[in-house]
Order: sequence, then structure tokens, then C-alpha cells
Amino acid sequence: MSKITVLDENTINRIAAGEVIERPAAVVKELVENAIDAGANAITVEIKEGGISLIRITDNGSGIEEEDMPLVFLRHSTSKIRTAEDLLRISSLGFRGEALSSIAAVSQVELVTKTNESFTGLRYLIAGGDEKSLEHIGCPNGTTFIIRNLFYNTPARKKFLKSSITEAGYISDLMERMAVSHPNISFKFINNGQIKLHTSGNNNLKDIIYNVYGRDIAANLLLVEGSNDVISIEGYISKPVVSRGNRNYENYFVNSRYVKNALINKAIEEAYRPYIMLHRYPFTSLHIRIDSELIDVNVHPSKLEIRFKNGEELYKLLYHTIKDALEGKEMIPAVLLTEEKEKVKIDQKIPEPFEEKRRQELNRNQNNQSGNKNRTFPGPAKHFANSTGVDQYQPNNISSENAAMVKETEIGRFHEVITQAPELVREEIAASSGKAEQLSFLSEESVKNHRIVGQVFATYWIVEFGDKMYLIDQHAAHEKVLYEKIMKALKEKQYNSQLLEPPIILSLTMREEETLKKHAENLKKIGFEIEGFGGKEYAVRAIPSDLFGLVQYEILIELIDGLTDEVYNDTPELILDKIASMSCKAAVKGNHRLSYEEAQALIEELLTLDNPYHCPHGRPTIISMSKYELEKKFKRIV
Ligand code: ADP
Ligand code: MG
Repeated sequence: MSKITVLDENTINRIAAGEVIERPAAVVKELVENAIDAGANAITVEIKEGGISLIRITDNGSGIEEEDMPLVFLRHSTSKIRTAEDLLRISSLGFRGEALSSIAAVSQVELVTKTNESFTGLRYLIAGGDEKSLEHIGCPNGTTFIIRNLFYNTPARKKFLKSSITEAGYISDLMERMAVSHPNISFKFINNGQIKLHTSGNNNLKDIIYNVYGRDIAANLLLVEGSNDVISIEGYISKPVVSRGNRNYENYFVNSRYVKNALINKAIEEAYRPYIMLHRYPFTSLHIRIDSELIDVNVHPSKLEIRFKNGEELYKLLYHTIKDALEGKEMIPAVLLTEEKEKVKIDQKIPEPFEEKRRQELNRNQNNQSGNKNRTFPGPAKHFANSTGVDQYQPNNISSENAAMVKETEIGRFHEVITQAPELVREEIAASSGKAEQLSFLSEESVKNHRIVGQVFATYWIVEFGDKMYLIDQHAAHEKVLYEKIMKALKEKQYNSQLLEPPIILSLTMREEETLKKHAENLKKIGFEIEGFGGKEYAVRAIPSDLFGLVQYEILIELIDGLTDEVYNDTPELILDKIASMSCKAAVKGNHRLSYEEAQALIEELLTLDNPYHCPHGRPTIISMSKYELEKKFKRIV
């Protein structure tokens, strides 16, 4: 690793300052980032009592040179940048040079390190910022940090910690994100002697997703890929059947850094909007690579925020890449028996006594097999080329305490989340994600063989096709067909206005007024005539003729509200989309019965659409149940 220096005043002043070490998870984050920056390809994290009494992080990276040792724990000492200029193109995860000094100030730290070139290693003790000892010892290449008794000398801070279980939970989440963000690094996470996570580092993102998120998600993934001159996007997103009530599963990594960014969220959610319901969020695991000069990671001390110089470009690429992946897939949710679901859960974690040798064998075999069958992802650019191999790597031989922890693990009963999906499950995943697309319910050929059986509850039409029964929600279908019609009319035709007599008078808030002004031109273009009516009142004198009879006061207000949230996108197309989706919501009301012929026409029309599976608000229009499921329910097969 290149030499550590203390940054000059000017550079220090340009670094986003602030406290970074507020809880054990922050210590783990900083130390794991350092290990990654040191070029490690195997990193072990062990904690006890939520990391409060002990955190041990072992890596097989570059190690620290003896002459650098006195600098490591100084504030603003770093080997990753030299000048303020370097802040403009940061390619490492760290750059502030503050983590180790902050950690050493509030805990008892033991550092054991050895570079490839040196014959012996070094052991350094520092507590509360005071150096205790430095000695030569024998140890493997790489670095181990042991952090004991966090906040032992700052009781006020210790008071703010949550229970050990909660703190361990934060660390566990962090380790999962680290594993997903670096598929090329083998991570092991041990909590109170139990191995909680172990990834192979074979660069196969799908394996890690299976490992971390389980089979339900792994079986419902779509591959996404997109790029332009300066940005590339690769990764997996979930089919719309998998969604969550919060954004926890909406993960993405910019140059392998886990970040949170409103623009990226927006692009993802906008692409999913036609497919999932309001306030539901997809699973995503996206690796975004972008020229380091086009991003600013020096925004916040925790480095969780990021700014893009070409945000619009990124937004568009991301939106279209995800939209393309979602489009044209047959996405009919299947009704499953509850027993089936329970089984899936049990399979997710395979209880099995841990045997170091067996696992290594398994890894080796699967690494060999996975070569051509599975996708691999390019690792991050290696900033430091001197990492040692996994073979020499012996993470557990540094201290006897460590060995004891692992022993406990081996004997104790626990569920190890295995490194890769077992072969059988793997095939199942492949089958479940591929087969449905072949036997399309919707091809022209198939539609001829549909048999409309009838209607239940004045709402659902039953259609038999092949060995499946399909249920179509009449209202959702109606909404969808109408939406497409309006969109098409609005898009293709010269926009015609239809006068409203009397006009609709809107009373707007200041924010709504602003939105109206911002979108005035586009609204006019598609046939709206809206003018000031004194004060906060606006008169809607004309509307697009296709919407005549559909648009009412509430719809217009809803439309304006909807546009208020659009910070990144204000194309006429978006406005059309909003208008169409809101109008048809109003148009389809009540449980009116359709005749058999009307239903047939509606279903036929639905099935000609690009995305017939979801109404404009993301609800499914079609679900299916297989003959097999029914036969199981009737115990014809067991
Ligand atoms: P930063 O990561 O911002 O440079 P830190 O305080 O986290 O600052 O680390 C200070 C320096 O210590 C790093 O720049 C690096 O040179 C060295 N260092 C820290 N951890 C490791 C490690 N695991 N392996 C090798 N070098 C390390
Ligand atoms: Mg660091």
C-alpha cells in the first residue's frame, strides 16, 4: 500500500466533517472498508455482545508497513488521497483519514499486521488514543483489528447504544450489504461464535442474493444490464410479484459503495410504477459504475450520500434499463397452496453441522461448476495490486481467543447460510424463472385456445388454458384497456380541445400553483386550457377531447398533486401518463355486469397490450392457478 501522510489544512477543510463512530456498526463499516481498500479478497468479521465488548476484523490485504505505523492512528492521516484535488476523483471507499483515530479514541485497539514484503508482523496496542506498545510478532500477511470495550471511556455515548441484539442486527445488515456490494470478496460474519454469513467471493451476484435474501427472491429475479459512455448498470431486480412495504430491499451500489440517493430511488420506482402498487417497493441489487470524476462522495461524513454531476443521464439510463427488463415478460402471479410456502422457508437455511473441510470442498466444486453457468460481475478496479491469495489466508490463527470462538461454532448447532445455492434448488430457480415465459398465455396462438368459463362475484372472469385456470379482474382489466386507449389517443392524435361549459374552477395551494405554472406549456400542448381566475383560483376552460366526460374536479387536483412530486421528470409523456392513469380510475366504477360477449372483447383487447398484467396503478389484472395445485388440494395427488 502506498505511504500514509497527514493531509494539509486546505484539504482537511474541504472534507465533509463530523462524527462517524456512533455505534459498533460504524466501527465495522470503517474497518471493513479499510480492508477492501487494502485489496483483501477474504474478510472475516467477528463480534461479541453486539460489537460492544469485541469486534475483530481480519483481512488478507496489503498490511501496513512499519514506518507507517506511527501515522495510522493520527487524525487526517491517509494513504488514499494526498491533495484537495484528489477529492474530485476518489476511487477508494475511505479518504477522510479519520476513522482509525476516532475508533482508537473511544476503545481499546489491538492491531496485528504484516505486509507481503516484510518477514515479521507487528502488534500495536492503543487505548483511549494512548499508545501502549509496539512489538514484532509472527503472523500471516494482512491485517487484524481487535476493538475491545467500545465507548469504555465515554459513558455518555455508551448510554445511547441499543441492546446487544439490536446492535448486532445493524452489523448483520451491514455485512449483508458489504457481501452484495462486493461479490468478488469472501465475507464471513460470526456473531457470538455463530457463523451468520459466509460468501464464497466467486463473483456470482445471484449466489449472494440467494445466500442473503433467500429462495423466494432468488427465484424471481430479472437480469438487468445497460450502459452508455460513462455509466454502466448491471445486477438483478425482482419481478413485480416480490415487493415490500418499504425501501429496505431497494439496494444499489455506486462503484461498489452502498449509498442512498433520491434520484436513483425515483428512477427505479418510476420504471416499476406500471407494475406494482402504490407504496410498494421492489427488490433491486444494482451495481452502478460511473467515472469517479462524475460523482461526489465527499458530501456527508458517513459517505452514505452521493451527488452526481450527470444526474439526468443516470436517471434516464437507469429508468430505461429497468423498464426494458420488466417489459414483455409474462408476469402472472400463481396462486400457491400454503403448505408450499412453508416448505420454501425451511429450505432457505440448511441446518447442518459446520465442517471446515467439507465447506471448502463444496466451495471448490461449486466454483469449478459455476464458471460458465452463472454470470459473474467485474470486480472493482484494484487500487492496490499486492493482495495475497486466499490459499495462504488463515484468518483464524492469530489468537487463541479467536480459535475458541470458531470451535464453539463448530460444535454448536446453528443454521449456516450456505455459500451457494445447492444444485437442486439452483435448477428449480432456473426453471421457475424461465419456463413461464415459454408457455405464454398471451400469444396469438394461445388466445385462440382460451375457454372463457364464466364470471364469479360480478368481478372475476375464469379462463381455462392448457393446464391452468386464469382469473381476470374485470375492473382492473377495464382500467388497463381504457388507459392504453387514452394514452394512444393522446400520443398519436393532434390534440383536440373540448370546451367545458361551465369551466371547472380550481382552488390551489401555493405549491400546486407552482406546479401548474411549471407544467403549463405541456398541459396546453395536449389540449388543456387553464387560466388565472383571480387569487388562488384557476379556471379550467378546456380539456383534451379524449378525456371529455371523464375529468372532474378531484381528478384535476390529483393530477396536479401527482405532478408536484415529479422533480426529475417533466416530459409531456409523463403528464400524459399521469392524466391517463387518473382519468381511467374515475371511469371504471361500480360492479356493472358485462355480457359474455363484452367480457370476451375486453379480455381479447387486454391481451393485445404490452403489459396486460397490471392495471395502471400496479394491481394485477390476471392471476393463475394450476391444475396441479387443484389436484393437490383435492388430494388426488399427494
Ligand atoms: P482512510 O481510510 O480514510 O484513509 P482510516 O483512518 O480508516 O482512513 O485509515 C488510515 C490509513 O490506515 C489508511 O489510509 C490505510 O493506509 C491504513 N489502513 C487502515 N486499515 C488498513 C488495513 N486493513 N489494511 C491496510 N492498511 C490499512
Ligand atoms: Mg478508512
